[in-house]
Amino acid sequence: MLMHILAHTEEDEYSCAETFALLDEYVETAVKNEADAALVMPLVKHHLDVCPDCHKEFEALLRILETDYSS
Ligand SMILES: [Zn+2]
Repeated sequence: MLMHILAHTEEDEYSCAETFALLDEYVETAVKNEADAALVMPLVKHHLDVCPDCHKEFEALLRILETDYSS
């Protein structure tokens, strides 16, 4: 049972490269509604929660888009 859970968890997690490939799309959704983005791409959200590097990248992109929207 435990083995199954561990294997399943690993399968469901994105690597940094996979997250990065979807980050543009994720940020575009997040800039309008962050809850929506987490709903549409839960695996990206999960990776951002556990990976400080990708989270930093996410915040940088978010700031750029937010500037675009408000100008
Ligand atoms: Zn990462």
